[in-house]
Amino acid sequence: MKTHFFTWRRFTAIDQPLHILAAVLSVSVLCACNVNVPGFPAIIAPTVTTTPTSSPTPTVIPAETATPTISPTPLPKVERAVIISLDGLRPDGLLRANIPRISVLINGGASSFTARTVLPSGTLPGHASMVSGRCVSQHGIIWNDLVPSNEPLQGPTVFSIAKDAGLRTVMVVGKEKLITLARPGTVDSFRYEPDSVDERIVQTALDEAANGFGILFVHFILPDYFGHLNGWMSAEYLHGIDRDDAVVGTLVDGLETLGLLEDTLIVLTSDHGGHDFTHGTNLKEDMTIPWIVYGAGVLEGLALEVPVSIMDTAATVVWAMGWPVPADWAGRPVVEAFGLRAEQVPVPTADPYRCGI
Ligand SMILES: [Zn+2]
Repeated sequence: MKTHFFTWRRFTAIDQPLHILAAVLSVSVLCACNVNVPGFPAIIAPTVTTTPTSSPTPTVIPAETATPTISPTPLPKVERAVIISLDGLRPDGLLRANIPRISVLINGGASSFTARTVLPSGTLPGHASMVSGRCVSQHGIIWNDLVPSNEPLQGPTVFSIAKDAGLRTVMVVGKEKLITLARPGTVDSFRYEPDSVDERIVQTALDEAANGFGILFVHFILPDYFGHLNGWMSAEYLHGIDRDDAVVGTLVDGLETLGLLEDTLIVLTSDHGGHDFTHGTNLKEDMTIPWIVYGAGVLEGLALEVPVSIMDTAATVVWAMGWPVPADWAGRPVVEAFGLRAEQVPVPTADPYRCGI
């Protein structure tokens, strides 16, 4: 019943950019032909009266800058990004809940309801991959509790990259252990709401947003809370999603009021799903997450058909912001959401067998 809203513009939205690209490529091919291929007039050919030699002088061809780069194709300007994580959100739970506000993001953006998290399907490993674009084997966050003696998340993250670009980074979370993601010097403001009330978390997030930001990470906990308490897909669990839908609406409205919605990219996803009263396994109920991207440059109403990983969150944000994606990231920008195909964009194409897919 809820699936109708992401099918209607599925192909019309992507057709136009591809037509434009095809036209550009055709023009490029024709221009190349004009240089050296027989049958085309020479460009400003000097008048030569001598007999052409059978072995023409080699043409000096400008060296191509063939070094692969991962600089992004120009996109509509993305000034800032908001990553919204609904802890423990199963996509089938999302689609069964009452979600008028998240539906606006789905209808107005690109989405996958078969995205995958990483193993173990827990809060810290999943969120570490979400913000670092790397597999658990790369970032090493295999524990799921706050262990202050353990090193925080190392390597580049959406936060460290944004900081390097001179932008303000903010985390507002409902679980203290997420401080593990905020390596010192990478997050300007880390706000933990100890009572885990998402309606309060969103107010804190808007307070922080009012100070401006490059990256705003907001973590809501109700689906996970009711999943553990009453069971995943229970009535209480679905009601928790209803509440978070309203909270997401409050966040979007608040950003708009602050004048910070335009030119903003929003990714809404989750760290893991769940089954019975738990999660952490490789069951598809634990591993499958929703992944919704909305905002500047994103096609409207697109159902993503490419495999999407939780790691793609960081890669998509970094790419859309115009920053180079670290070459060792397993996550890849979901350029399809912007009407592009992977082969059209000079970014690494992830191994289809990468972790979590
Ligand atoms: Zn949990």
